[in-house]
Amino acid sequence: MDNNKDDNYEKYCYLCRRPESSVGKLIYMPNNINICQDCMQKTFDSFSGGGMQFMDLSNMPNLNMNQFTPVNDIPKSQKVKKKKEKEDKKEEPEMTLSSIPAPHEMKAKLDEYVIGQEYAKKVISVAVYNHYKRVLTDTMDDIEIEKSNMLMVGPTGSGKTYLVKTIARILNVPLAITDATTLTEAGYIGDDVESVLSKLLAAADNDVEKAERGIVFIDEIDKIAKKRNTNSRDVSGEAVQQGLLKLLEGAEVEVPVGAGSKNAMVPLATINTRNILFICGGAFPDIEDIIKARLNKQSSIGFQADLKDKYDKDNNLLKQVTVEDLREFGMIPEFLGRLPVLYSLDALDEDMLVKILKEPKNAILKQYQKLLSLDGVELKFNDGAYHAIAKRAMEKKTGARALRAIIEEFMLDIMYQIPRDDNIGRVTITQEYIEGTGGPILEMRGVLALEQN
Ligand code: ADP
Repeated sequence: MDNNKDDNYEKYCYLCRRPESSVGKLIYMPNNINICQDCMQKTFDSFSGGGMQFMDLSNMPNLNMNQFTPVNDIPKSQKVKKKKEKEDKKEEPEMTLSSIPAPHEMKAKLDEYVIGQEYAKKVISVAVYNHYKRVLTDTMDDIEIEKSNMLMVGPTGSGKTYLVKTIARILNVPLAITDATTLTEAGYIGDDVESVLSKLLAAADNDVEKAERGIVFIDEIDKIAKKRNTNSRDVSGEAVQQGLLKLLEGAEVEVPVGAGSKNAMVPLATINTRNILFICGGAFPDIEDIIKARLNKQSSIGFQADLKDKYDKDNNLLKQVTVEDLREFGMIPEFLGRLPVLYSLDALDEDMLVKILKEPKNAILKQYQKLLSLDGVELKFNDGAYHAIAKRAMEKKTGARALRAIIEEFMLDIMYQIPRDDNIGRVTITQEYIEGTGGPILEMRGVLALEQN
């Protein structure tokens, strides 16, 4: 009825006339009289301050509680509509056994976004598929197979984080990304290892059940390698690895809700990490030297002894990384044992960078093309331009990460100048423009229209 209709509108405090959304929950009284906590308190205060007791009210001859008029006197036009609650969003479908994509489907979806890294995409698809199959059939305990926690080794900007983000999006599971460098042993300045679960809980909208099926990505894992030759306490290295052990394996952990650290004021939730998939990633700088030393040692024995510098120019050394190499690097064996899926990502070369510019569904250049098309302007790049951008990115040695900065730099001028002139119909970015020796090619609408005819 009418009441229902009114539900869409804010209720107001009878005394101060502020809406419920700004003063907090109103106290509802008979006859549609609503009073906010603030005004209620003030009323009490004034009664007791003046020496009058609240109970005296009823004895006052001229005051009849029933004479209060309801607050319907605020015209509809002045009422504020309640903000739509977030829950109105469509409920995301629950993951079921039949809805998890098979490994080849998962890889095909990854292909739409992630360029190259064929081996990594295959491994992650299979491992993730197996993991969730076990989670959904609840056979994590029955079969004594190790959890599919993963360790990714790959240079900066090769797509480690991107791969994990994409897979979490495909599966529609919550994802928490943490930097291992911020973690310290409990009690020291920095975040406890449990803080990664707080982040996951937040990513799952504080839904414990959802969080327990999520993915945690710990980046820069090489930074918590055991420190060599040190006498001080290793609170951010080996101790953090030790601290992570129980999470990786599966444990009930109490985590603060909505905050990074436990304290008396923060409510706690218990999260079971048994079904959470942990993925660690790191660049492991200089691990090639360790791999090379191992390979040289193996091949320098017996008749098949190789030349000492055989592996010096091998770009794919990282592919041959083993658990022993990582242990040599400073990761403790118990930690490595809990990350049974080990694989590496390739360093990106110029051709791959060009593909990253052109091909992914959400490629940065496509985003700019879309933006300009809203102004009715076509944005084109010639082949030389793609390679010039990739070349500049290669020089920065930060993988695909350098691309965005370079593109933003030269697109700034284009985005500033083009909307100024309504006549421009097409912009072509050239190699010369990227290299700073020329400008973009601008074509006028009139000319383009003539061409089309
Ligand atoms: P890291 O390996 O250091 O974690 P990121 O995953 O953060 O690198 O990569 C940085 C950005 O570069 C990503 O956001 C993504 O846009 C882009 N990128 C990196 N590798 C690829 C790839 N193989 N395919 C497509 N885009 C990539």
